[in-house]
Amino acid sequence: MSKVLILSGAGISAESGISTFRDSNGLWEKHRIEDVCTAGCLDTNGEATKAFYDARRADIEEKLPNYAHKVIVKLKQKYPNEISVLTQNVDDLFEKAGIKENEIVHLHGFLRELRCRECEEVFNIGYKKQDECFNAQCPECGGELRPNIVFFGEAAPKYQILTQELNNCELIVIIGTSGNVLDVTYFAQLTSVSILNNLEPSEAIDDKYFTKVYYEKATQAIDVIAEDIEEFLITL
Ligand code: NAD
Repeated sequence: MSKVLILSGAGISAESGISTFRDSNGLWEKHRIEDVCTAGCLDTNGEATKAFYDARRADIEEKLPNYAHKVIVKLKQKYPNEISVLTQNVDDLFEKAGIKENEIVHLHGFLRELRCRECEEVFNIGYKKQDECFNAQCPECGGELRPNIVFFGEAAPKYQILTQELNNCELIVIIGTSGNVLDVTYFAQLTSVSILNNLEPSEAIDDKYFTKVYYEKATQAIDVIAEDIEEFLITL
């Protein structure tokens, strides 16, 4: 648990060339969310769902972290106990910027992983297609595999970590999220200091509850945000 919580969303990866959801009329890479990432779609639309995540996995292989990812990773390395890094993103750009597996929480899952639908074991397959791995079945129990992604309407077990972090932190920094999935306005009200960075206002966020608001690209705002964080840490 840390005093500073940095919570990011799809917007932080936009400048690395990974599309966000809401900026494309609620579609994700031209797919309707209910077709490929809603609870039940593995049973009703299994092949298309698998193909969608295979494509997303292949898509991130060549993508590179941007300046905002890099600054956050440096800050985390400088203040390992004071800062927690949580993301809604399923890409691996923080990892490519050098963050270690135990230094970040992917609240909505991780594209490079598959999970067994029977025994829940998780396997890192890198950028491969799902069916090219393990003869398309769980190497532990033979069960059916699925992308280790939290679909809309499914439980998100790592929200427990988010709740604990929110109970403890005093500064929350929100970067690149529309607030449609997580109620970041509420989170700002739980903490004494709060910072918001998005490209533009979102109807799902009431920015008057934030101490500081930066409507600009994350790569432009991140240096000032890093200064804000370091100034805050000095006061502790
Ligand atoms: P969202 O698409 O709903 O909202 C994106 C937000 O980022 C917007 O508020 C926009 O103003 C802001 N933004 C866009 N470009 C920006 C930039 N350069 N700098 C700063 N802000 C910028 O994203 P969300 O709230 O994260 O919700 C989408 C859900 O979709 C998440 O749960 C996530 O798991 C998933 N998703 C993930 C990825 C990824 O892993 N990169 C990509 C698309 C969707």
